[in-house]
Amino acid sequence: MEIKIVKQILAWNEDVSEEVKQLLREKNVCLVNVMGSPGAGKTSLIKKIINDLRGKFRIGVIEGDIAGQIDADTIDRMGIPVVQLQTDGACHIEAMSVQHMLPMFDLDAIDVLFVENIGNLVCPAEFDTGAHWNITILSVPEGDDKPLKYPLMYTVSDVVLINKIDALPYFDFDIEKAKQRILNLNPKAVFFPISAKTGEGVDAFCEWIERQIAAVKEGKTL
Ligand code: MG
Ligand code: ZN
Repeated sequence: MEIKIVKQILAWNEDVSEEVKQLLREKNVCLVNVMGSPGAGKTSLIKKIINDLRGKFRIGVIEGDIAGQIDADTIDRMGIPVVQLQTDGACHIEAMSVQHMLPMFDLDAIDVLFVENIGNLVCPAEFDTGAHWNITILSVPEGDDKPLKYPLMYTVSDVVLINKIDALPYFDFDIEKAKQRILNLNPKAVFFPISAKTGEGVDAFCEWIERQIAAVKEGKTL
């Protein structure tokens, strides 16, 4: 299908996260902001979630990238409504972009919308997209020291997925150390060690997210 492409413009920099949240409440749509480094596994995770949950919930995806639409093509081939945001160099997504893109979905036919943020650990953490949850993926090859170097990212994350655990034998990545470093920043953080590749641990995470989507559907405010 022809994928809708939205060009983010510099003037979209007003904080409208409260308006986004209001619209999501009216439509009972759950918004999930997925953050992480380039290559951490954001698209792979979203694909896994789609496969696990598409029978239970109606899913949509906003793909954020500086350029191109390769990830949006992937999601489109799965038959999932997707809109590609191209930021033309900007390294994060703001609520105003989300606000511009929400009307491109049939929100009455969507239960959960995933936003794949721009891959970096710095400024995506500084902007409230209006999402119900911030999920950050920390992959094993990146190292367990990332929470020390990019503290804000882990401070604003409700959930941290430690991805690529299938690669643990090849890297000096200490899961307990990573967890402790994140908990020092954010005592409420929830963790799931996963491999988006093998599927290990993804079920447990999907059960969690299923409960959260159901809560939003029942009108529970978070
Ligand atoms: Mg991606
Ligand atoms: Zn940025």
